[in-house]
Amino acid sequence: MAKLYFKYGAMNSGKSTILLQSAYNYTERGMRPVILKPFIDTKGGEYIVSRLGVKQKADRLIKSDDDIRRILARDTRANGKADCVFVDECQFLTPRQAEQLFWIAVEDDIPVICFGLRTDFLTNGFPASSRLLELAHSLQELKTICRCGKKAMFNARKINGKFVFSGRQVAIDNENNVEYESLCPQCYIQEKNNAALT
Ligand SMILES: [Zn+2]
Repeated sequence: MAKLYFKYGAMNSGKSTILLQSAYNYTERGMRPVILKPFIDTKGGEYIVSRLGVKQKADRLIKSDDDIRRILARDTRANGKADCVFVDECQFLTPRQAEQLFWIAVEDDIPVICFGLRTDFLTNGFPASSRLLELAHSLQELKTICRCGKKAMFNARKINGKFVFSGRQVAIDNENNVEYESLCPQCYIQEKNNAALT
């Protein structure tokens, strides 16, 4: 029985690298992985880009009103059944699409491996990620370290190099002077308190 996997971690925890490596393992064995990426994630365009320099074109960009299960069914008719579905930056999907991924695993018997952030820059869950945490058969945290050496949990947003603690949930990294830093809870709250004082 296929399962839905959610592998989450703060930014720079190597999610895209692991995705590309895992997809390659399938290809190398003559199997066919399908790689999905949310359309809203304009970083890298049509490509899944790992910080180590490896990149690969996504098979399909998913828009917010797309029915992923229907897209997969169409793909199955055209190319045969996929051996595994990979989703990069799955936090940018909708909760409904997270549910569709669950049914692809359960009813269509195709393993689905999602990679993404658990929470946004204000520590709130991304809706799709929260749904994946509820539904996934298997959860795995991918770790990265904070500047202080502790495990980073949160993704603090910087605009023009300054930490900000208000704004829209979605702002793509490296666009409009936005960047992110993965922080442990202690460093996160320290920056939040500093920002409140200035
Ligand atoms: Zn820290």
